[in-house]
Amino acid sequence: MDHKSHPQTKHNPEDLIRCSRCRNFHFFENNAEHDSPHALGECRGEPWDGSLGQWAMFQHHCGSFAAP
Ligand code: SF4
Repeated sequence: MDHKSHPQTKHNPEDLIRCSRCRNFHFFENNAEHDSPHALGECRGEPWDGSLGQWAMFQHHCGSFAAP
């Protein structure tokens, strides 16, 4: 059975994800705005590597990923 398109589907911790797709991720506030999807941001959840600073597009595993 294929569940991957359903928004309520639980994230599979085996899948690689990007923080940019996670509700816990926020770009740092600054006066220059954010003109790059590769900018450094912040995890407001439980970061996969223990670091609050996270790169939006870097792929990794995360057990705390929250689907948008
Ligand atoms: S919970 Fe995981 S996927 Fe979400 S922003 Fe934090 S480190 Fe990234």
